[in-house]
Amino acid sequence: LAVVVQKYGGSSVADAGRIMNVARRIVATYEQGNSVCAVVSARGDTTDELLRMAYEISPRPPEREMDMLLSTGERISCALVAMAIDRLGRHAVSFTGSQAGIVTDTVHTKARILDVRASRLREAMTDGKIVLVAGFQGVSTDKDITTLGRGGSDTTAVALAHALGADVCEIYTDVDGVYTADPNLVPSARKLTAVSYDEMLEMAASGAQVLALRCVEYARKYTIVIHVRSSFSDAEGTWVREEDDSMETAIIRGVTYATDEAKVTVRSVPDQPGVAAHVFSALAEAHINVDMIIQNVSEQGHTDISCTIPADDLAAANETLAKIARDLGAKGYSTDDNMAKVSVIGAGMRTNPGVAALMFRTLADLGINLEMISTSPIKISCVIEKDRVEDAVRALHDVFGLGDDNITEDHADKGAPHDG
Ligand code: ADP
Ligand code: ASP
Ligand code: MG
Repeated sequence: LAVVVQKYGGSSVADAGRIMNVARRIVATYEQGNSVCAVVSARGDTTDELLRMAYEISPRPPEREMDMLLSTGERISCALVAMAIDRLGRHAVSFTGSQAGIVTDTVHTKARILDVRASRLREAMTDGKIVLVAGFQGVSTDKDITTLGRGGSDTTAVALAHALGADVCEIYTDVDGVYTADPNLVPSARKLTAVSYDEMLEMAASGAQVLALRCVEYARKYTIVIHVRSSFSDAEGTWVREEDDSMETAIIRGVTYATDEAKVTVRSVPDQPGVAAHVFSALAEAHINVDMIIQNVSEQGHTDISCTIPADDLAAANETLAKIARDLGAKGYSTDDNMAKVSVIGAGMRTNPGVAALMFRTLADLGINLEMISTSPIKISCVIEKDRVEDAVRALHDVFGLGDDNITEDHADKGAPHDG
């Protein structure tokens, strides 16, 4: 039997009607003669609500307990989908991440998968059962419940596709594929037929939340093909796979943005060897991922070091930054979360000069100031003021000619039904 791994996102299981819809899809796949493992996310805004509940109790909830709390969202949907499948007359069995054998490191709230011991899933599937797995969670090498970071159910699905030997990992969501820009922001965005792992990695890293970054990393490492598609239609979605000649060549594949980062600056540190190493070692020890880095020109032997970090980590970073400032005899530190990052991504950039110039010119024409810039061979990102990010994305999408010239009426119909 062919093994099919599917993942259904939060909006796909938001209410009873949608859960029945998902159950019907899963059963249909099973009845086509496949062995099915489905990963589900927490319903609708459940994860956000759980976070809100935690912060009502404490400004810095213990991370171990945060994981106990957050992992429940996925357990709820998993059990409900199993009940829906049972009602359709098929045998389903649900598992937590831990029961499914997903073993992670001990970094709570953003654990990494170390191993997948899927024997229990395999046995259930061999018995003819449909298997459901609660996404976004695992059990650590210390036997504690962990979660995999926001969007982590995508990672669960790819890891299971690898462990179970599935040919493709299907990610069902509320849009029908990966677009040239967030289709909820840019109405003329175009669905991509295929995207390479490298481009998808850059897109996910720079804010295209349609796939979680770790999921794409995992898929690239083990060459798992991902099919991103809508749980509300049968349309073919976007294939994420290795780059090959059949892929449409474009200088720019997409424009992305992120508003969930913050800028931190350590002020007036001595400009001498070892200082940057000290700053970034301390942040790494606190498990804070750093994105862009800027060190200012030194004045009288002192300089400012700035970097961007996930805004969610700001509370945790405060302590670390205060210590760094003390250790280095800095003037202090500041944080700023009124920022956004806008990026253009495309493998064709490697061989086409002028992309940066056009990007900067476009933003300048909008009167947008560039606070930080970073590049990779296939990506250029700029940090700008948060209020202007939507203008920036639309203008860049336009200037790089990414829009759909043949917009039809039903083109607007790419969101989930009734989702506004
Ligand atoms: P799920 O709950 O199914 O995991 P997410 O909300 O995590 O769904 O991801 C889907 C959302 O990603 C879409 O609703 C869309 O607004 C957003 N998105 C951002 N960038 C893109 C893009 N380039 N292509 C498609 N969707 C995108
Ligand atoms: N429920 C988690 C989140 O909202 C994980 C996921 O949806 O993939 O981030
Ligand atoms: Mg998601």
